[in-house]
Amino acid sequence: MADESFPEIREAVRRLCARFPGAYWRELDRERTYPTEFVKALTEAGFLSVLIPEAYGGSGLGLRAAVAVLEEIHRAGANGAACHAQMYTMGTVLRHGSEAQKAACLPKIASGELRLQAFGVTEPDAGTDTTRIATFARREGDKYVVNGRKIWISRAEHSDLMVLLCRTSPRDEAAKPSDGMSVLLVDLREAVGRGLTIRPVRTMLNHATTEMAFEDLEVPAANLIGEEGKGFRYILDGMNAERILIAAECLGDARFFIDRASRYARERVVFGRPIGENQGVQFPLARAYVQATSASLMIDAAASLFEDGQPCGAEANMAKLVASEASWFAADMCLQTHGGFGFAEEYDIERKFRETRLYQVAPISTNLILSHVATHVLGQPKSF
Ligand SMILES: Cc1cc2nc3c(=O)[nH]c(=O)nc-3n(C[C@H](O)[C@H](O)[C@H](O)COP(=O)(O)OP(=O)(O)OC[C@H]3O[C@@H](n4cnc5c(N)ncnc54)[C@H](O)[C@@H]3O)c2cc1C
Repeated sequence: MADESFPEIREAVRRLCARFPGAYWRELDRERTYPTEFVKALTEAGFLSVLIPEAYGGSGLGLRAAVAVLEEIHRAGANGAACHAQMYTMGTVLRHGSEAQKAACLPKIASGELRLQAFGVTEPDAGTDTTRIATFARREGDKYVVNGRKIWISRAEHSDLMVLLCRTSPRDEAAKPSDGMSVLLVDLREAVGRGLTIRPVRTMLNHATTEMAFEDLEVPAANLIGEEGKGFRYILDGMNAERILIAAECLGDARFFIDRASRYARERVVFGRPIGENQGVQFPLARAYVQATSASLMIDAAASLFEDGQPCGAEANMAKLVASEASWFAADMCLQTHGGFGFAEEYDIERKFRETRLYQVAPISTNLILSHVATHVLGQPKSF
């Protein structure tokens, strides 16, 4: 089965995660603090650099290895959202950066000396319609001067660098709405307090997300990735990997819920028999397993296409959709199976329940995936 790929990586991730049990995550969740020790352990073990080519100090593995890492983290009850971006955000630099930019960044990202964990696209007034972003970078000699706002920029307070998407020419002056956007690599260590303000946003889960205000932030022109005006395409390029890896996290969550519910259904005795003896309890459990197994196959198919360099936009989107639905169904099933105890913090189920709900909204909401499949795969007319 697809979930048995990379057994050695999976086993090593399980061993690492065992050092960070539920009590560790519960305390962080209560305080909304960042899992620094966990991220450090993953970095030192090399799990966050699996996608970086060996020439730049990573292990040069394919996306399916990264899928195995994130799935196991989530299956263990941990949360990879604190650091998953360190795995794939560097892809923008790797695919579109200059040799000098790659040589300067990638080896340090691989070693953990540099954290590239922040990815700044979403804006309060643009929503999913990315072509409407208004954050503007004006070229002035050898620098850009950036003004605007971003929202939901995760891990910015725990990152050294940020990949920032901004406009470099107004939308109405571009040939296409998606033209005229550019990607800048922003050094957050230099930017904060000198034109960039970061404010944490507290949410229903422990996610280290923030909003940002740019007021005449100066960014060296040498930090432009690729060509000016082509940034939207570069960001889109990275989205397939992101969707497949987030799907892997959903799958790990689904398996966590199924493991927990299965065990509880066998052990919990009510009316003189294990609750799992009742088909009303068995069937949702079995359905959750069927959904998770299907999602696993879809993720593997999408990741294999990605590794082969084939187009995989539809498959990446579909993997994300089925996996996020499998995790949410499994979350609800697990909570229900546990009855009242599902609501007790110490079972970790209510925490994971809150965490897994995010994936139907971010990094792309379910409706937008359905719209992609309807128009790009099924040839339906575009509605927007
Ligand atoms: C915790 C968290 C972390 C995040 N981290 C990051 C990050 O690090 N970097 C980053 O750039 N962004 C990040 N995001 C933003 C995330 O990608 C967006 O929230 C997500 O893409 C949805 O966009 P929106 O919130 O603007 O919703 P909107 O675009 O305002 O949409 C609202 C609702 O309307 C629906 N909708 C909108 N248009 C249509 C349509 N045409 N047809 C049908 N339905 C439609 C959507 O599906 C959605 O359900 C994060 C968000 C959260 C909550």
